[in-house]
Amino acid sequence: MKYTQPTLPYAPDALAPAISEETVNFHYGKHEKTYIDNLNKLIEGTEFEDEELEDIIRNSSGVLFNNASQAWNHIFYFFSFSPDGGGEPDGELGHAIKEQFGSFDKFKEAFVDAGAKIFGSGWVWLSKDEKGQLFITQESNAGNPMTKGLTPILTFDVWEHAYYLDYQNRRADALNQLWSIVDWAVVESRY
Ligand code: MN
Repeated sequence: MKYTQPTLPYAPDALAPAISEETVNFHYGKHEKTYIDNLNKLIEGTEFEDEELEDIIRNSSGVLFNNASQAWNHIFYFFSFSPDGGGEPDGELGHAIKEQFGSFDKFKEAFVDAGAKIFGSGWVWLSKDEKGQLFITQESNAGNPMTKGLTPILTFDVWEHAYYLDYQNRRADALNQLWSIVDWAVVESRY
């Protein structure tokens, strides 16, 4: 058991109503735990056993990539939120967002639009390249932009398990509600 699930820095009911207690318990407590359990089983006794999780994501494929990347993506996602979140980033990231997307509102609109339009399961990402240029990208299934040399800054999960208990088929509504809980101090530290 190399990898263990980190305890969330908030209570399971603390993100409601944006994300309900029931969804946190199923999504983080069960879905995410399963990815970590699978990852541990898959790497046991292999060349990947002593690698960092990010290196496994960059260097694996198939079922190992899927479980490693989903394990990482969910921790990254859930640790981007806080019951005291919301508002706007005001440091260098906020400046870069305004410069590249025109305004914070236009960025939010483009990000949610990209997430809403992913066909099937996946993740919408804000990432940066080595020059600090920002990118909004769509990834299917377990995809992660670090496999393309980008550094992830923010992601919203668009798998149905992320929102169906609370929003049913209204994916864009679900994504828009997440802005009220984004912890911009954490997200900004990734820029
Ligand atoms: Mn998920």
